[in-house]
Amino acid sequence: MSAPRIGFVSLGCPKALVDSERILTQLRLEGYEISPTYDDAALVVVNTCGFIDSAKAESLEAIGEALADNGRVVVTGCLGANAADIRAVHPSVLAVSGPQQYEAVLEAVHAHAPHTPVHDPRLDLVPPQGVKLTPRHYAYLKISEGCNHHCSFCIIPSMRGRLASRPVGDVLEEAERLVAAGVQELLVISQDTSAYGSDIAYRTGFWGGRPVKASFAGLAEALARLGVWVRLHYVYPYPHVDAVLPLMSEQGLLPYLDIPFQHASPAVLKRMRRPAAAERTLERIAHWRALQPDLAIRSTFIVGFPGETEDDFETLLAFLAAAELDRVGCFEYSPVEGAAANALSDAVPEPLKHERWERLMALQADISRARLARKVGRHLDVLVDEIDAAADVAVARSSADAPEIDGVVHIVGGGALTPGMRLSVEITGSDDYDLEARLPAPAGESAS
Ligand code: SF4
Repeated sequence: MSAPRIGFVSLGCPKALVDSERILTQLRLEGYEISPTYDDAALVVVNTCGFIDSAKAESLEAIGEALADNGRVVVTGCLGANAADIRAVHPSVLAVSGPQQYEAVLEAVHAHAPHTPVHDPRLDLVPPQGVKLTPRHYAYLKISEGCNHHCSFCIIPSMRGRLASRPVGDVLEEAERLVAAGVQELLVISQDTSAYGSDIAYRTGFWGGRPVKASFAGLAEALARLGVWVRLHYVYPYPHVDAVLPLMSEQGLLPYLDIPFQHASPAVLKRMRRPAAAERTLERIAHWRALQPDLAIRSTFIVGFPGETEDDFETLLAFLAAAELDRVGCFEYSPVEGAAANALSDAVPEPLKHERWERLMALQADISRARLARKVGRHLDVLVDEIDAAADVAVARSSADAPEIDGVVHIVGGGALTPGMRLSVEITGSDDYDLEARLPAPAGESAS
């Protein structure tokens, strides 16, 4: 009997992607086939996102499509934390489970698409590093689940629970397996990477027979030794982050920090109940850049949060002008069902939110353009993501560019390179967000 085929849809953030990978790996280990289409699948698993209302709508739509095309649907992920909401719209789904409930998903698959593999040599085809949904040269490494903060606009702690750090030995073994499988870049993710280990009293673990402390710095130091790029996401500007700056280089732990500041006005940060709101952020950034002049800082901001005055917004613009962050994402505030911020008064009118968003993005484009222009003429290490052979161009990233969210480096004449290659290129041009580069001249020739 051939193995049942399971259709799979993965929506949402990198953390949800990691959940999907775990489920897919287990299904493949059990001998299930993964189907790229719905119609020949025994059932479809939809891993949903429930972070903001538009993501919820997209998830409900994906469930509806899978029901229309296939009829047998198992729902999991953040939106699944509230099963009643899903069943109200789609009463015929087979099962609903919340984020990280891998066992519940597998139970539902076992119940509705039973499969008892005898000896199946195809199981050996499952690579030991698991099934990855990202391109094979980079992978997300999830170091903890949940969050101990209570930001008023966020419902992740109620959906994902309190911080639960993975044992450091497990994290490092997974990282090692990924590197052995050809991964060139590890993207460290969690809800609060700088809090890693605080819930388990920084318990020392073992990796390769050596003790490693389960702390932000201990983990960063161990990962830096793997010989691949390591990029830290979702870090807060706490003093203990200083310890990892000297470890950064273009060969290992990258000079890059993704810090979701969200705002700069103390009054707004207080209403947002943000962690590290009281830190002297500009001083900290200046200190980090003194330690690591090539440090790239990415951040996200919310404009139009309830009660945000023109003065608050001007404070945010002044912060951006002074901080000169390298990469900035900005969202217009929108309420999320169940979030404490919904009870706040003084909502900002939609047109004003949008006007502020435009002003912020225009300022940041100027800052980004000026920072990128300073790189012209330098040689930078890059990692190749894609090739456009027809145009003879490779699309790559430098240490300052995370995949999907930051800019890229277009390597003119790079059509013969391959994804996953790391090389040094000469930067020849720049615009608001991207760089242009050329290949190094062959030995004995000088580039003109
Ligand atoms: S730090 Fe705040 S925004 Fe981030 S997951 Fe925790 S509560 Fe949500």
